[in-house]
Amino acid sequence: MVTQETHVARNYAPLDVTIASAEGSWVTDVEGRRYLDMLAGYSALNFGHRHPELVTAATEQLGKITLTSRAFRSDRLEPFAAALAELCGKDLVLPMNTGAEAVETGIKVARAWGYRVKGVAPERAKIVVAHGNFHGRTSTIVGFSDDASARDDFGPFAPGFVSVPFGDIDALTEAIDDDTVAVMIEPIQGEAGVIVPPEGFLRRVREVTSERNVLFVADEIQSGLGRTGETFACDREDVVPDLYLLGKALGGGIVPVSAVVGDESVLGVLRPGEHGSTFGGNPLAAAVGLRVVQLLGDGRFQERARALGEHLDGLLAGLVDSGVASYRRVGLWAGVDIDESVGTGREVTEALLARGVLAKDTHGQTVRLAPPLTIRSSELDWAIEQLRLVLTR
Ligand code: PLP
Repeated sequence: MVTQETHVARNYAPLDVTIASAEGSWVTDVEGRRYLDMLAGYSALNFGHRHPELVTAATEQLGKITLTSRAFRSDRLEPFAAALAELCGKDLVLPMNTGAEAVETGIKVARAWGYRVKGVAPERAKIVVAHGNFHGRTSTIVGFSDDASARDDFGPFAPGFVSVPFGDIDALTEAIDDDTVAVMIEPIQGEAGVIVPPEGFLRRVREVTSERNVLFVADEIQSGLGRTGETFACDREDVVPDLYLLGKALGGGIVPVSAVVGDESVLGVLRPGEHGSTFGGNPLAAAVGLRVVQLLGDGRFQERARALGEHLDGLLAGLVDSGVASYRRVGLWAGVDIDESVGTGREVTEALLARGVLAKDTHGQTVRLAPPLTIRSSELDWAIEQLRLVLTR
């Protein structure tokens, strides 16, 4: 029975549980114990584990073809791209695999747009990002992170990024100059602890970027696809960015699927041969991605996120000053700051594990809650009751 990892590189410190199977909101470990999944693969499992329609889409496609490479067309890619473009209200979709690849793609597209359309001088392109950002783990991306554990010993880093305080529209506006090609932000910062910018910030970012001929690139890899109660977190302020960066839930928790979505005037700058991926847009990914888009089509999951989120809010409000110092919640997504007198976020997640709840700490004192959007209200009640017992033990 696998309960230790001796041959796995130690770039993670998993909680002491070895999972063997899952269904819906529940996972089962190698000893048959069940746990309620309140992390949902960092929102990659918005539809729960092994959603029947997604499993059907995947298994049907497994029986046909799984990989063509983009050297040839597949009969799955265009339907997926058309559906995703429509969901986003955009013209074009560039499929990749992981979130970090979508971010890298967004950076390359923004720079190419800057040189070819905006007329920025060669090698001068600048991208404005935010303090506390998390956009993935490649060497370019960690170069503009302010998290020491993500950066230290991994330099030298790529130039061309300027970081400003998240939510500070004046600092952001001031950072823009003639060489700026894009502002790239998470509309809500997930890894940072579900940090919601001040009301109106995203609208102002849209206005300022439009006025200054700068692209607004929204990293909706964690915030998008239903989590916040809207299809995209940008929808909360009726804002449409120039590029959506999508990932995580786009693969339905089955395969890695990411994408950059934008209009012809921006994404159309790429020419054949300038960017690509062996696996990006493969038929299996496209079949699952298409069904994900279809699941989001009628707003059912977004509505669940809204209603369950309000319910979660009521439960968390009852814990403030009883082990919870504060919390932020949007849709079915919360960052819960644990009172230091109770222990660290990690200690709380360990105690939750012992009570049958899976959750993940972030930045020391915060526990992030992002259950599947398919979770039942009574299961949320049970999970937060376990949290209450942990905090008041
Ligand atoms: N962007 C955001 C906002 C994320 O939350 C993440 C992952 O947590 C990424 C990008 C990177 O995605 P991946 O781990 O699939 O590379």
